[in-house]
Amino acid sequence: MKVKQQSVYDPLEGMDEPTGLGTQTKKTIAWVSRHDPLPAQVKALQEKLGDIKIVHINNTYTNYRNVIDAVKALKAMHAIVVLPLSMIAFILDSKEAQGTTWLRAEMQSAHEGRCIDHYKEISNDRHNSVVQVQHQCGMFNPDTDVLMPGETTRHLRFRKFMVLKSIDLITEPFTGGE
Ligand SMILES: [Zn+2]
Repeated sequence: MKVKQQSVYDPLEGMDEPTGLGTQTKKTIAWVSRHDPLPAQVKALQEKLGDIKIVHINNTYTNYRNVIDAVKALKAMHAIVVLPLSMIAFILDSKEAQGTTWLRAEMQSAHEGRCIDHYKEISNDRHNSVVQVQHQCGMFNPDTDVLMPGETTRHLRFRKFMVLKSIDLITEPFTGGE
């Protein structure tokens, strides 16, 4: 079993555990992604599932079976996966994957057009010269948003979790006239 990099997000961390309620009562959720869950995503899972423990699996998988093994090893009933579609298709078709609800975080563009830089100038010395400038999209919400850097930055906002049911391949007969 290769589950090397794992970190656990316990929303109640630092709070006293109520007597008689151990970690056994928490529902384990596997978070298979390079990125950490956003605060809004943790909240959305708590609203649906109650007392949860999110285990972040940050491995780079090349085989879908390893993903299933890692999730099953955690005894997670729910798994959020950010993986290539072909791997998701294999997982959903796999017998071993049954018994787990496979979820996808639905992200949409936070706004139309390009991000507009929001310059936050912090000038706190007595000559009033700018000592720090922060660049950030003026529409950025740290609870729900991610910025995907690239040629043009993609600014995505978490909407909701969706249950993955199947990945469909749509085909039609080849006539040569396409
Ligand atoms: Zn933006």
